[in-house]
Amino acid sequence: MKSLKSFLFIFIMSTFTTIKAQNIPPGSSWTVTKNNDVKVHTYMSPSPMFANTSHIIELKNELIIVDGQFFAPYALELKKFTDSLGKPVTRLYISHDHPDHYIGFGDAFPNVKVYALAETKASIEQAGQGVLEQRQAQFGSMIATKLNKPSVIQQPGEETIGNSKFIFEKSLNNESAVSLVIKLPELGVYIAQDIVYNKIHLFIEGDTKGWENALHKILKEKTYTTVLSGHGKEGKTELIKENLNYLAYVNETILKSKNKEEYKAAMLKKFPEYGGEQLIDIYLNYYLKPKNWVN
Ligand SMILES: [Zn+2]
Repeated sequence: MKSLKSFLFIFIMSTFTTIKAQNIPPGSSWTVTKNNDVKVHTYMSPSPMFANTSHIIELKNELIIVDGQFFAPYALELKKFTDSLGKPVTRLYISHDHPDHYIGFGDAFPNVKVYALAETKASIEQAGQGVLEQRQAQFGSMIATKLNKPSVIQQPGEETIGNSKFIFEKSLNNESAVSLVIKLPELGVYIAQDIVYNKIHLFIEGDTKGWENALHKILKEKTYTTVLSGHGKEGKTELIKENLNYLAYVNETILKSKNKEEYKAAMLKKFPEYGGEQLIDIYLNYYLKPKNWVN
């Protein structure tokens, strides 16, 4: 879904024709959980802007951020939040190469070292500047003036930072082709990012098997009771089940529908409280092409 975000944000911005950096709705932040050594906070853009999350892991002497927003004003708000904690940001992790997770923070955090999996680093090196310039042309001052690209490859494995244990894993073929999962076993926190959505329509490109496998994997890991999502608030086991039910309903509805309209109507009826209806239009127009549908 590399080009999803261009369609997505054209769509959003056309629905907010007068949007300006000064009058966008603010994001929100809260503390998810903590123990004596570490606190985990989340900053999130508002739901109409697809509830993009940045998670802040607060250690004794430093802060680590996971994912950095799409729109520059939200990254600046995130910076205000990290400043309020009074500790330096020493690492910023990018979970995967979709622009809503990395193009926002170049101005807000120009000097922070950025970490990513080798595949994500290579992808952003190759395509990131072009993606940024394209979005600047579309959205002007809502977009950062520059990127801060990954400079450090994060290898899968374990590492102790501050006094806390971090486990880094590579997950394949979920919502994106390659993504970084970060686990904090002492806190029971599983940072899943876009493997898990919360009350936002999941973005469907076709076969969902790999995505379902990634969700089942989380369910099996009993150490982890708090799952942090890439879009929407954190949740517990029920959230994973909700995502699995959603994907099952997607597949069932694809088979039962004859065309896009029937499919979309069924999804909205089944999940009326979900945000991100435009996501359905985008993937139906550009990605999902079931063989059994007639147009
Ligand atoms: Zn995303």
